[in-house]
Amino acid sequence: MARALQPCGTRAAYTRHCARREAIDDACRRANTLHQAAWRKRDARRKRLGELRQQLLFRQLLDLIAGECQKAGMLR
Ligand SMILES: [Zn+2]
Repeated sequence: MARALQPCGTRAAYTRHCARREAIDDACRRANTLHQAAWRKRDARRKRLGELRQQLLFRQLLDLIAGECQKAGMLR
């Protein structure tokens, strides 16, 4: 059974219009704009999280190295 088509004002309808090369109505254009804004926000948050994770791992690595150096008597 075919799935019901999403109505205008949804991202699905927007992409359908594009695929069929139909004119884009305001409701669908707005839905796409909102979708893109949300996506950009999520993407920025994801990147920031990735950077923080990287910084944390790097700090842990430095602590580990410092600890080993201390044990080996390399730091005074
Ligand atoms: Zn539409």
